Amino acid sequence: SIVVTGATGHLGRLVVEQLLEKVPAERITAVVRDEAKAAGLAARGVRLAVADYNRPETFDGLFAAGDKVLLISGNEFDKGRVGQHRVVIDAARAAGVALLAYTSAPGSLKAALADDHRATEEALLASGLPYSLLRNGWYHENYTENLGPVLEHDAVVAAAGEGRVSSASRADYAAAAVAVLTGEGHENTTYELGGDEAWSFAEYAAELSRQTGREIAYNAVTVEALKGILAGAGLPEPLVEIFAGVDVSIGKGELVVTTGDLSRLAGRPTTPLAEAVATALKG
Ligand code: NDP
Repeated sequence: SIVVTGATGHLGRLVVEQLLEKVPAERITAVVRDEAKAAGLAARGVRLAVADYNRPETFDGLFAAGDKVLLISGNEFDKGRVGQHRVVIDAARAAGVALLAYTSAPGSLKAALADDHRATEEALLASGLPYSLLRNGWYHENYTENLGPVLEHDAVVAAAGEGRVSSASRADYAAAAVAVLTGEGHENTTYELGGDEAWSFAEYAAELSRQTGREIAYNAVTVEALKGILAGAGLPEPLVEIFAGVDVSIGKGELVVTTGDLSRLAGRPTTPLAEAVATALKG
């Protein structure tokens, strides 16, 4: 089987959708925490396995020898993601899966956010399993799905200076994962994945201006100012640190990816930022 964890998340749903275009539904297993959330997947014939990274026993016997597994990194920053991911790696090793692909972060990313990913990569390499590191760059949707405050103030606020970011759509990263899960020869590979074109926040503001007909400016702030704004908006302190850290990294160019791995794996150019903006404005 092809087994996808986090299958009811944003990325996981797209991966399963795209897998359904390539392989019969009964060959796909969606690992979910909440069966009710996966009713749509089950209705399409996808097998469900209910498991939680916080409960190792739920992964006992979940994988079979020869499975190809996509471990989608978790989003519970306060629960020790490395330990959670290790649960999946240990179960995969016990079963003898044929491939364990993991959604990581770019090798160039030094922000604290990347620490869990580096540690998970180490655990995966130490396991001896055939692996594929899908070092996903930033999502367009991190910006385009959060346009509320931007449109309210006619300003893009970031602490990234003139830094550029090679973002791509979640669907692009899903396509790369599907290529690795359904193709051959991806054992023991590391892919640095990012959009074909890097953009700056000034360019992003200009694109928003063009598509809305309004004057939307880039307001480049200091990292301290950004932290104040995020905290003022009610974001919990650990997340404030993470988001601010990412902007600092963008300012240093750590989220620019130039390998072309993403469009090569997807077999097509990556989605332009302008298209993600248009989709979001329509939505
Ligand atoms: P989502 O938050 O939409 O999905 C996270 C998935 O992880 C969900 O399906 C969730 O399950 C699952 N999950 C979380 N905790 C557990 C657990 N304890 N046991 C089992 N499953 C769990 O994120 P995306 O799909 O958008 O992105 C995937 C991952 O990529 C994120 O989790 C994060 O690690 C990382 N990320 C990357 C970004 C980027 O720009 N590259 C930006 C943001 C995140 P459930 O559906 O039940 O909630």
